[in-house]
Amino acid sequence: MIKILVVEDEKPISNLIRMSLHKAGYTCTCVYDGIAAADILESERFDLILLDIMLPGADGFELMEFIRPLEMPVIFLTAKNSVDDKVRGLRMGADDYLVKPFEIIELLARVETVLRRYHKVDSVITLDGLVIDTRSMTVRRDDEDIPLTRKEYELLLLFVRNPGTALYRETIYERVWGSDYMGDSRTVDLHVQRIRKKVGWEDKLQAVYKVGYRLEMRS
Ligand code: CA
Repeated sequence: MIKILVVEDEKPISNLIRMSLHKAGYTCTCVYDGIAAADILESERFDLILLDIMLPGADGFELMEFIRPLEMPVIFLTAKNSVDDKVRGLRMGADDYLVKPFEIIELLARVETVLRRYHKVDSVITLDGLVIDTRSMTVRRDDEDIPLTRKEYELLLLFVRNPGTALYRETIYERVWGSDYMGDSRTVDLHVQRIRKKVGWEDKLQAVYKVGYRLEMRS
């Protein structure tokens, strides 16, 4: 289980992060000030730290000095568009930063990228009988390969990495096709239909009225 420490004093943001990370399968500990962060880091190891900059007690930069020798990856959470903070954070050895407010899907993507860089992410994801190998980019069920196109594969991965989350067609399009959504929903719909059929997820990949799609998880 991947353990993530969230150091963020704004409770609503912290709660949202915790819920989202939990849903994505990570174990998450939240602390709300710099002193508590330093305390817990003295006794516990984490696979990743999400670190707010403006914190009571000790701020994110001060904490970074403390974290660096511990060699744990850090993603800074920066307010607004403070370019100085971003640059300073990266110079101090942070792995990435996220500008608040951010979308959850963005948070999860950054988290995963950093974890992968540190080889903390399993390269094989198993879900509902489906085995996805992210290294060879292959998908199998019952030891049989399911041939997917590149886009179908990326779309499947997007759903698998955001289980139970309703994804907007716009978001799906921008994530998978990498360009701005121009209102053509048929591309997304068509690919979802093809994935449903190919991997046998007719019931699991559900349409969400006026939004897009959600990968339904049995709880
Ligand atoms: Ca703050």
